[in-house]
Amino acid sequence: MKKLINAPADVIEDYISGLVVAHPHLARVDGLPVVVRSAPWAKSGDRVALVSGGGSGHEPAHAGYVGKGMLDAAVLGPVFTSPSVDSVYAAILSAATGAGVLLIVKNYTGDRLNFGLAAEMARAEGIRVEMVVVADDAALGDASRAGRRGLTATVLAHKIAGAAAERGWPIERIAATLERFLARAATMGVALGPCFLPGATAPNFALGADEIEWGLGIHGEAGSELGTLVRSRDVAARLTETVVTDRGLAEGDEVVVLVNSLGGTPDLDVRILQGDVLADLATRGLRVRMTWAGPFLTSLEMPGASLTVAGVDDELLSLLGDEAFVAAFPRSTPLLDPDRAGVVAAPRTFEVERPEGTRSDDVAALHERLAVIADALIANEALLTDLDRRVGDGDLGTNLARGASAVLAASDLLLSQHDAARYLTAVSDIVRREVGGTSGPLYSLLLLAIAERLHGIPGTPGAEDWAAAVTEGAARVQLVGGAAPGDSTMIDALVPAARALLEGDGDGAARASEAARAARAGAESTAALTPSLGRSSYVGDRAVGIADPGAVAIAVQFEALAGALAATGRSEETR
Ligand code: ADP
Ligand code: MG
Repeated sequence: MKKLINAPADVIEDYISGLVVAHPHLARVDGLPVVVRSAPWAKSGDRVALVSGGGSGHEPAHAGYVGKGMLDAAVLGPVFTSPSVDSVYAAILSAATGAGVLLIVKNYTGDRLNFGLAAEMARAEGIRVEMVVVADDAALGDASRAGRRGLTATVLAHKIAGAAAERGWPIERIAATLERFLARAATMGVALGPCFLPGATAPNFALGADEIEWGLGIHGEAGSELGTLVRSRDVAARLTETVVTDRGLAEGDEVVVLVNSLGGTPDLDVRILQGDVLADLATRGLRVRMTWAGPFLTSLEMPGASLTVAGVDDELLSLLGDEAFVAAFPRSTPLLDPDRAGVVAAPRTFEVERPEGTRSDDVAALHERLAVIADALIANEALLTDLDRRVGDGDLGTNLARGASAVLAASDLLLSQHDAARYLTAVSDIVRREVGGTSGPLYSLLLLAIAERLHGIPGTPGAEDWAAAVTEGAARVQLVGGAAPGDSTMIDALVPAARALLEGDGDGAARASEAARAARAGAESTAALTPSLGRSSYVGDRAVGIADPGAVAIAVQFEALAGALAATGRSEETR
């Protein structure tokens, strides 16, 4: 497993250095794996101090939560390994105030022992120390003898206790409030893959291509049940069901919801899951008052997520809503009434006009040909995507196929247009909206330029008119896109094709077949070129030997057009 580290043995040291140097409110205790609030941000002596920590590999937990309104000290063990008694003891002494020290500990044997022993040592020094153990894991319920594991509810416990301490609450009130919160907080996770410890050559467990682990722990251990990958919506339903029944949360209860990325799941996915969880909870009649999503308590780069749901009351909500000045906890805003959330009217609708009156038969013939071109793009999706993957970002086939499908889906609307010019303008509108990337605007422009050129022509446009229009379109694409022949873009196929249309002297079908040959030759010529424009230019010489996907797409379309025109010609002859 490739990692951006200096040496496996140095990861904790190097992490602390990086975190502290970037955050003036943080300092490290000299020579120890302990992060505290720096002197200018230190807590006043009459406020309870909060200390948490555990094995590393769960970043931003816990050092990312040190600061005003959350923790006063975090103790960092080696990756997935409890910190030593001495480190915890040092953290307690560094953070201690006259109001006492509250330890927030995740329920693992090692953590309980090391934090527990350090607490005894500090008490012997005359420091008041209390300990709250977080055990929110709903996957195992109360079945395991070691008890439930401590998971992501820990982070919300930091937030609640931190706000209470900042308000000046005495230690026993803070501890009791945390216990009240934790009694109604449950977490359940799902892993889509394993993670690798720094320096390890093998993952902690292996999963097949569509296997997932339900109820995993956060130390790279496998879950309690092997399953098959399902949609986010179904993951949400299962996680929600588990946590809600675990704590007996029922219709009408007010809850907070935290969707946690285990480190390898991107924000895109985590927020999809969050949306699905919120929808699921709404159908159960639970009232979500606050929610967060992101990496809060991770397992290195593990792909997957965990869901924490906790029953709350106004006091807990108000504590969760207090602002915290830490590296990694976002501002918490109470949710709006769901009916008022989320949508503003679009500025205006972009509907293609459906004109009144009669249309020419040209439009039907034109649409038949365009449908053949669209089918060809759809049939070549994989080929174009593969080429674009090698030299670009791999979306060209998908983008063009999406545009082609949209054009086919809009047949009724397109067939109602009066003439070729209006028809192509409508196609240009669809392409502009659907295709995206670099190709979308360029194809849209090409179609618009062709439409404009055909607009003034009385009657049915002939082969010469089409040739002139496509030439005009190719010129506009060069003007706007800035590419010239030889830059290894679609221009290398489009320009020779336009020239073949213009210079040919036969009918439309003959010219189209010349154009298809020219486009294919042009597309093939790009394999020898180093691209200087577009995304292919970013990979430099790596693109040499591979034809430009945009140019190949042009060849595919002219070939389809030529085929369609030839077929029409044959059927007219036999008629
Ligand atoms: P993106 O790079 O935005 O993903 P697409 O995948 O939609 O773009 O299209 C890639 C194709 O666009 C390239 O293969 C190339 O033929 C074409 N292209 C890139 N830049 C230009 C340009 N400036 N002018 C004309 N065509 C271009
Ligand atoms: Mg692309």
